[in-house]
Amino acid sequence: MGDFIGYRCSICQAEYPPTQVMYTCPKDGGNLDVVLDIKHLKQKYHTSDITSRTEASLWRYLPLLPVPFPHAEGTTLGAAGYTPIYKPQKLAERLGMTRLWVKDESRNPTASFKDRASAIVVARAIQIGAPVVVTASTGNAGAALAGMAAAVGQKAVILAPRSAPPAKVAQLLVYGAQVILVDGNYDEAFDLAIQAAQEFGWYCRNTGYNPFTLEGKKTAAFEIWDQLQLANTTAVGRPLTVFVSVGDGNIISGIHKGFKDLEELGWLGQMPRLIGVQAQGSAAVAHAFHAGSEIIEPVQAQTIADSISVDLPRDGVRAVRAARQTGGTYITVSDAEILTAIADLGQVGIFAEPAGATAMAGLKKALVDGVVKPDDPVLVMNTGSGLKDVRAAMQAVHAAPVIEPSMEALKKHLAG
Ligand SMILES: *Cc1c(COP(=O)(O)O)cnc(C)c1O
Ligand SMILES: [Zn+2]
Repeated sequence: MGDFIGYRCSICQAEYPPTQVMYTCPKDGGNLDVVLDIKHLKQKYHTSDITSRTEASLWRYLPLLPVPFPHAEGTTLGAAGYTPIYKPQKLAERLGMTRLWVKDESRNPTASFKDRASAIVVARAIQIGAPVVVTASTGNAGAALAGMAAAVGQKAVILAPRSAPPAKVAQLLVYGAQVILVDGNYDEAFDLAIQAAQEFGWYCRNTGYNPFTLEGKKTAAFEIWDQLQLANTTAVGRPLTVFVSVGDGNIISGIHKGFKDLEELGWLGQMPRLIGVQAQGSAAVAHAFHAGSEIIEPVQAQTIADSISVDLPRDGVRAVRAARQTGGTYITVSDAEILTAIADLGQVGIFAEPAGATAMAGLKKALVDGVVKPDDPVLVMNTGSGLKDVRAAMQAVHAAPVIEPSMEALKKHLAG
């Protein structure tokens, strides 16, 4: 972790030392990439130094992270990451596929992918002695920050839209964060969090604004590499294709960064292909990608998948590049297709919230359109738990019947 040597702007390539800036490029507002001393890391470590570590959390990859371990010795309370990768055979067969994996991020401590980012931001906050961490959130980023902060005794303030699903708001409150609901949308909460951080001297976790969120999210790529043993693959045959749902674009950019780190270290056989999936009603990144542009035009976002409902994606440029530089693409899906994908995943024992199932809906479309071939190796990220949004889940299924408590009534019902 002593190998964090600065930041580089993703737009103008300007470089900054670790102490000079905190968030985005002062010249053009571009997202900053955290720069690690890869040359030094390469000298110091071999792949087996990483893959033989015993931590079953993202701290397994500590040598490749820009922050120190934040927990008291021996405790990994709230430890995020190292989520399972399943091989759902029945679902693969139904889709006519031979090699399908699902990485289940609902298994994180606060039940979404956001725990990865919040774990690293909280570690950074402790390192720099920030009194308070603030974030805007549609729910999951806030829950993750609140949970991670509670685990280490850090103060957190969450600004969420008033419309956030009740389960997510309940999580924020139970973790003991200071929760303030904003009578506006996510984008308005986002700007308010930045202003509050500036005025009150708080540390701002906002996705696509704080450079350290990406460093947490890249650990998902390390795990895919570690768990599927991609270090041993050679660059022959079709690459692994990874499907990721996209809102602000920070997850797909983080996964891209993780694979790029591994590539620079010389540890990756073949760069996976990244496919971003957006809801049709919230598809600013997909629009830019298909226009062959890096200019992100805001939309008026509307989708059942609240976690990816974003007017102006804050990490859109890197999100476009993640697909473009890996031979991937962007796919958009309807809310109806998202609800069907919730049921598809449910039938193999995976419970996804709408934004989590969006990636699976994208895979189904990609198979129909020939974007992936049935025997391509494919990994789908489920980014969040279905328990986060029970109202949406109920729309994906038929309501349960109610019967009298008698065998007669049960038999009558089963006879249909
Ligand atoms: C935040 C989130 C996403 C999208 O991540 P971005 O970085 O905003 O693209 C997808 N799914 C879930 C469940 C999320 O919480
Ligand atoms: Zn710049």
